[in-house]
Amino acid sequence: MKEIYEIAVVHGDGIGPEVCSAAVEVVKAALGNGSPLNFREYPAGAEHFLKTGESFPEPTFDACRSSDAILHGAGGIPGVVHPDGTEAGLDFTLRLRFELDLYANIRPIRLFEGVTCPLAGVKAGEIDYIILRENSEGLYAARGAGVQLRGELSVDTLVQTRVGVERIVRKAFELARASNGAPKDGVKRVTCCDKANVLRSYAFFRAVFDEVAPDYPDIEVEHVLIDAMTMHLVLRPGHFNVIVTENMFGDIISDLGAATIGGMGLAPSAELGERNGFFQAAHGSAPDIAGKGIANPYGTVLSAAAMLDWLGSKYADSRLSDAAANIRAATNKALAEGCLSADLKGNWKSADITRRLCDQLAAMR
Ligand code: ATP
Ligand code: MG
Repeated sequence: MKEIYEIAVVHGDGIGPEVCSAAVEVVKAALGNGSPLNFREYPAGAEHFLKTGESFPEPTFDACRSSDAILHGAGGIPGVVHPDGTEAGLDFTLRLRFELDLYANIRPIRLFEGVTCPLAGVKAGEIDYIILRENSEGLYAARGAGVQLRGELSVDTLVQTRVGVERIVRKAFELARASNGAPKDGVKRVTCCDKANVLRSYAFFRAVFDEVAPDYPDIEVEHVLIDAMTMHLVLRPGHFNVIVTENMFGDIISDLGAATIGGMGLAPSAELGERNGFFQAAHGSAPDIAGKGIANPYGTVLSAAAMLDWLGSKYADSRLSDAAANIRAATNKALAEGCLSADLKGNWKSADITRRLCDQLAAMR
């Protein structure tokens, strides 16, 4: 347990500031007076780049690295790019991932009571799995080192290392062990998702998975090819418990999974390394709805709950774990009671959802 936990808060762009301040308010309400969290705001992102010519100032990076956790809204404005063509704002997320080695991107996909599922006949609780996205290798690791020839040839490289695959696979088994299993049959199951039948790098990913799996005899294992996976996630999502996959495949199926539970606005994300933890919703900065007060804050609120859980177990601090459980309970309740934002076909403003969550949390303390 620590006396004070330093949380680096970066609001970012678009709806980032709206959803990020909502999450901070909710965490404060969950912990009440005497909260051990110290939130400190730092600038980064595309808007900061437009103002200052810098999208990720060094002091912000240093603060992120040395803090106990990083909470982010969302980054990037379409068309705002650095001279080398990379999006200002996206570099915040990518630099943190690679320099802090945040190799495990945990993205829970869970269908809540009160939210309409676009899949016919699927009810709350019947979708509840984790996408574990390898966050430090794959097609993203050699980003920038791709080959461009005369404007006529372009090559990117897919990198998989034994150490990198092994650590993400072990993480997948640990997550499955700690879970309740798949909703359909309660079986604790890790699904290795790849394209091992065509590409060598994915065959390597699968081979390392198969080497590690016998260390976890209590967990069922299976392989599913990425193309088939997109079908299964629509037709039988209740079968899955933990899905482990390469960086870009994880990126793609995260959006698919989010769509099946009502949209990007509900999907949280945690990016973890050995020391650092970075928490932001799975969605982007949604510039189309920025500033209107209608952004869905639940994804960022649930990411903040994941932050409390992670800190709570790392430092054996039940105050934080209890606050995380309360935030999840308040979220369940608010959604079930119909506090739905525009993307969920409701008419609740972000601020009203936030207030409702805070009121419920104050009553739980
Ligand atoms: P990125 O490249 O950062 O992943 P993206 O282009 O994939 O971003 P998002 O910003 O994630 O796009 O969102 C796509 C659309 O989904 C938005 O334009 C918006 O309409 C909707 N959306 C995303 N997040 C939310 C939210 N929190 N609340 C309401 N609508 C949202
Ligand atoms: Mg996206």
